[in-house]
Amino acid sequence: MDLELLERTLADAGEPSYRAGQAWDWAARGAAGYAAMTNLPAALRARLEDQVPFSTLTVQREAHARDGTVKTLFHTADGRPVEAVLMRYRDGRRSVCLSSQSGCPLTCTFCATGAMRFGRNLSAWEILDQALHFRRVEPIDHVVFMGMGEPMMNLDAVLGACARLPGAGVTNRRTAISTVGWVPGIERLTASGLPVRLALSLHAADDALRSAIMPVNERYPLADVLAACRRHFEATNRMVFVEYVMLAGVNDRHEQARQLVDVLDPRAFKVNLIPYNPTGAYHGSGRAAIDAFRAVLEEHGLRATVRLTRGRDIDAACGQLAGVTVPPSAAPTRAGEDGRAPGGPPGEATSATPGTPRPGGPPGEATSATPGTPRGAQPPPPVPASPEATPVKRSRSARTLAT
Ligand code: SAH
Repeated sequence: MDLELLERTLADAGEPSYRAGQAWDWAARGAAGYAAMTNLPAALRARLEDQVPFSTLTVQREAHARDGTVKTLFHTADGRPVEAVLMRYRDGRRSVCLSSQSGCPLTCTFCATGAMRFGRNLSAWEILDQALHFRRVEPIDHVVFMGMGEPMMNLDAVLGACARLPGAGVTNRRTAISTVGWVPGIERLTASGLPVRLALSLHAADDALRSAIMPVNERYPLADVLAACRRHFEATNRMVFVEYVMLAGVNDRHEQARQLVDVLDPRAFKVNLIPYNPTGAYHGSGRAAIDAFRAVLEEHGLRATVRLTRGRDIDAACGQLAGVTVPPSAAPTRAGEDGRAPGGPPGEATSATPGTPRPGGPPGEATSATPGTPRGAQPPPPVPASPEATPVKRSRSARTLAT
């Protein structure tokens, strides 16, 4: 709901200003529409129905995963695709993964969103309406800005949404903003004083590899990004969560775990290792490689967890949002892929299955990957000598992006 349009419409109708608050309270608590707002006069409800769309988004498709995850594809009023995901956990947590942009202007080589065309920044209301959609299904209590887009490139709208989310059940402390390391955004977030969690998508602890898989690193190199995160920790006393997607033969070697230990202060950073969700460009590290990598971090006092993969059978997992919703029947179904047999009860998987070969790809566990491989239906070509030897060619350089 566009609350600015709502306020203007109410003012034009000569209504007292508290009416906007009443309407918002209903929407934030999951009302299905204006008709439910029984403390507004019927004539006013009809007028709002006419003049202020109840949501800025329309639902195009919805897919339900076996683990209870729901992915919804919306369109904005001007037809831009936006995806959001509801994740249901056994302990009762209901976490919503929100998009901040339609598409993404960055071109991280492992992420499906980076391969689709960038549309535009979303408004605060378009971000909020993703959460409200799920709030109408059931109460929600956590939000992660880990859907489409780079939240720090649209920070005003993201913070605008954060200011309203507590009304819908999600406090700022239960909200996490994930960034590629967009330094000016990190600094603004720190200065805002908002108690939201900062998460950093790191994925490599040296500049050459990080630039190869995340071209934005050329604009904001590792040392600058880590220094900004460090200042965030010092100013807020809240640890920064580091996300590290595990790519077989690319960033999962023993010495790369040691590099990570060298650059991350365990008092300020906690690592979340992410099993790679297939997008066509890489192969994920196997479970053993992930466990070994994690052991090195923990031996050196760096806290590390392995993220549970949710919704992979409907392409709703991290990095798989690309404006196309796969009906569950069309999704690849492999017994136990999400830690349970197909048709099992919804709830938390006990283990993810990293290293699952991507559909249509070569059988068996791959030991190496091909950064820079154009994403598509074809299997990756033979493996280059090293990721550093194959700089990623991208049509849009991260250097040329506007701040
Ligand atoms: N642009 C922001 C937020 C969106 S991505 C950011 O990059 O942080 C949310 C998380 O999913 C990031 O950590 C991202 O690196 C990760 N991710 C992207 N592609 C992935 C994939 N194919 N498998 C697993 N995680 C992936």
